[in-house]
Amino acid sequence: MASKRDYYEILGVPRSASADEIKKAYRRLARTHHPDVNRHDKAAEDTFKEINEAYEVLSDTQKRNVYDRFGHNGPSGRTGAGFDFNEGFGFGDIFDVFFGSGGFGQTTARERNVSERGADLRADVEMTLEEAAKGIEKTLRISRMETCKACDGSGAEPGSKPETCTTCHGAGQVRRQQTGFFGTSIGVGICPHCRGEGRVVKSPCHECGGEGRTRGSAQIEVKIPAGVDNDNRIRLSGEGDAGMRGGPPGDLYVFPHIKPHSIFERRGNDIWCEVMVTFAQAALGATIAVPTLDGEEKLHLAEETQGGEVFRLRDHGIPDVNGRGKGSLNVVVKVQTPTKLSQEERQLLEDFAKSRGENLEAEPDKSFFEKVKDAFSGR
Ligand SMILES: [Zn+2]
Ligand SMILES: [Zn+2]
Repeated sequence: MASKRDYYEILGVPRSASADEIKKAYRRLARTHHPDVNRHDKAAEDTFKEINEAYEVLSDTQKRNVYDRFGHNGPSGRTGAGFDFNEGFGFGDIFDVFFGSGGFGQTTARERNVSERGADLRADVEMTLEEAAKGIEKTLRISRMETCKACDGSGAEPGSKPETCTTCHGAGQVRRQQTGFFGTSIGVGICPHCRGEGRVVKSPCHECGGEGRTRGSAQIEVKIPAGVDNDNRIRLSGEGDAGMRGGPPGDLYVFPHIKPHSIFERRGNDIWCEVMVTFAQAALGATIAVPTLDGEEKLHLAEETQGGEVFRLRDHGIPDVNGRGKGSLNVVVKVQTPTKLSQEERQLLEDFAKSRGENLEAEPDKSFFEKVKDAFSGR
């Protein structure tokens, strides 16, 4: 996918722009790039779409907050678990802005529901690195607004029914005169009395006070995919707060938190660990046991292995969360200096050093310091 431009940049407003500034910038740009003004101009059409998408997000407080925090991909991060800013975008939204708050033509169901949608919720899940590597199912217990059982979300006292709005006679819309860019026109706007619902609750439900929802708790099973990392978000669609008076529910975002591991350090899909080997093992070569995420594994250490050398075990890391292969396990070799030497061992090492021509008593090598000095003075 081509990289997307920043929404603020598209509208040419600072990140601190007020709702009014955003609306003004949008109106100005939308007029210039409107398809009616630029017929058969593909570039203008694309720009117009881009402008509308940016406005769609930045004009909605909730979406703008999410965008400010998570950017284009939404809270799903790399999982691609689906956060679609374009969801439900229709041209009805544009006319709302063009003709002022009154709107024009049919109002969409989505428009009516904007204020009634339940809030998005967040749940944090702590897990081990092993769990993140294999994926887990967790049961979450969350407190959230749930559809009122007494009134089944309608908000009307059981036995009563929401009554038809007297202002709009149930249409949810009212006709009104508008003064807009193109002169005075008769527009149709959302009914201010019932806020477009077409119905008004006269006797509110005793359980929920007419809201159609009550605070409750829920137990939710969440499948956390293998390979998740701390920057991933898992979206459970419709598992957030219930909407007002039967409005659509919000979503639940699950944030994984992976606990630090005692042996492994994670870097992307690779994991790293250190193993201690003895001086003899490093010099002569050996088969050693190394820890992996699924228990121990044998690793052949080559002859003359130096301290700090890295042995890579392919496909022993973390699986990619999007299913693109698996990382590696990188084993860093640390050579242990022998301690608690016996008299005999000490003698062996002295003999060894002598055979290598190493002089243990010697003054530091003068020529070495000369070389360092030369390097600093640039000679
Ligand atoms: Zn109720
Ligand atoms: Zn009404």
